Amino acid sequence: MNCVALDSDLSMLKINKNLYVILGGDGQGANVGVSVGEQSVVLIDAMVEKSTDNLFKAIRSVSSKPVKYVVNTHDHFDHVGGNALFSSRGATIISHDSASYEMPMDIIGFDRKLILSHGEEQMEVFHVASHSPSDAIVYLKTSNVIFVGDVFATGWYPALFHGGISGQNEAIDLALSWADENTKIVPGHGDVSNKSDFLLYKNASILWVDRIMALHKMGVREEAMTKDKKLNDIRMMFKTPATNKDAFDRWFQDLVKNTIQVESKSAM
Ligand SMILES: [Zn+2]
Repeated sequence: MNCVALDSDLSMLKINKNLYVILGGDGQGANVGVSVGEQSVVLIDAMVEKSTDNLFKAIRSVSSKPVKYVVNTHDHFDHVGGNALFSSRGATIISHDSASYEMPMDIIGFDRKLILSHGEEQMEVFHVASHSPSDAIVYLKTSNVIFVGDVFATGWYPALFHGGISGQNEAIDLALSWADENTKIVPGHGDVSNKSDFLLYKNASILWVDRIMALHKMGVREEAMTKDKKLNDIRMMFKTPATNKDAFDRWFQDLVKNTIQVESKSAM
């Protein structure tokens, strides 16, 4: 895959002649899919608001056609920042029915599944319940690429704060049911990955949640859990870059707390 650095801090990966991934990170927001057709462009997610100009320039470097749809993998700020601008220029937003936006925009909502043809690309958008109530995963069948939003982040820990481990497993299993050895899995944040990376993440997540809940049942407090040797060993299974270490140390206890909250709810 060719990765091209752009004028801004963004970089762009060419998947094939009709599909690119603009990599987010460093406060710029989530990864973006750019499907290029003869008449129009379809985006998957739209970074944070302050990245919109750079995002627009990056799209213009591969197509002069208007953005027709922006498919949101969920309604969090780091995925929907460019919605307002693209909407004001004629794009329609596609998102799960439960997504909520501050701005009035043209929106096509869906409940379970939506099918979209764009040029040569066949896209299927499915609702899942893992990271947030409005999660959607987007399968680009022609390109054999699956955008999974924040069901997966390669440089972080499971953020399964809506559906818990069962919701995350269901979402991953659905995506893996389409995947073969050549499928590219695009996480909401981090590197473009493949089926075996996603499977490793799934298994590490199961161990992570099991260990946290086992400690919880033993009455171990959240602060003490962050010092637990087994949990720290499991932590090493996630490929968190060294640059995320400080952030993780700050968030460790919160992640543990959120995991206990969501798992206790789903066990009731
Ligand atoms: Zn995100």
